[in-house]
Amino acid sequence: LIQLSIPLNFIGFIYREIRQGLTDIEQMFDLLDVAPEVVDKPDATDLVVRDGHIVFDNVRFAYDPERQILRGISFTVPAGKSIAIVGPSGAGKSTISRLLYRFYDVQDGSITIDGQDIRDVTQKSLRAAIGMVPQDTVLFNDTIRYNIRYGRPDASDAEVEQAAELAQIGDFIRSLPDGFDTMVGERGLKLSGGEKQRVAIARTILKAPPIQVLDEATSALDTATEQEIQQALDFVSKGRTTLVIAHRLSTVIGCDEIIVLKDGEIAERGTHAELLAKKGLYEQMWARQSEAIEAERKLREARETD
Ligand code: ATP
Repeated sequence: LIQLSIPLNFIGFIYREIRQGLTDIEQMFDLLDVAPEVVDKPDATDLVVRDGHIVFDNVRFAYDPERQILRGISFTVPAGKSIAIVGPSGAGKSTISRLLYRFYDVQDGSITIDGQDIRDVTQKSLRAAIGMVPQDTVLFNDTIRYNIRYGRPDASDAEVEQAAELAQIGDFIRSLPDGFDTMVGERGLKLSGGEKQRVAIARTILKAPPIQVLDEATSALDTATEQEIQQALDFVSKGRTTLVIAHRLSTVIGCDEIIVLKDGEIAERGTHAELLAKKGLYEQMWARQSEAIEAERKLREARETD
């Protein structure tokens, strides 16, 4: 009898909890940290990109109401220019790219492209206009050719191969046993972070979108790979509106403007030279990174002479 009564009591307790939960369904979603799904407005129209001029106006955002991530961010990415976002880990850099792609809606302020609020346009047209090179590209369990062609399904074999060349991954692919027909992904050949990122760049070269977001890999890449990726990125961002989410500073030197994010606010902004002259946060980050690169170089030299 005792054995039976305990579970029954417990079930009663759970039942009450669920009833209570159902009355507070919104609170329950808050507790579960379920992101509200972004939906198109009933009267959403297609985004019309004329030049690709992006404006973030006083953007505020939090994943969790208790913790504000962006506290009123304003900046412009003029048509055809490259703007970089840098800042300490967790500052909210990648969040900016997620908001532009509208994975989440801003909670205050607005993001516009050529004067159109991105909340008023269809997600399909918005995402078609933006080429996203994410930190970690997901590959399909298919050939490397299929994976690159994903950028533009009607591209010819020659176009796919040319895109691979421009993304600095052509030599690597040709060295594989089945070349462009090599199976990749979880069940095929596993590519390194740098290789996957170049596949993503090749996709973007095929897609040729007016706007581009490059969310640089956080993981350290060796210097040669980094240079190859840099060349590929330089090619793909030429003449296109480009937002670079930079986790390393070596990639942002040539950008038209660098925005330094700290604690959800813009701490500094300017070109590489202007920011170095300011001797502020950017200059400190630069000095620290240069030291790290130098230490790594010495370590490698020591290893090579062993
Ligand atoms: P890093 O350089 O380390 O990649 P970042 O500046 O790109 O950092 P974000 O990825 O924008 O940082 O994250 C900003 C903050 O938001 C972090 O503290 C992170 O923990 C938090 N965050 C990110 N994604 C979510 C999420 N889906 N839910 C809740 N919090 C999140």
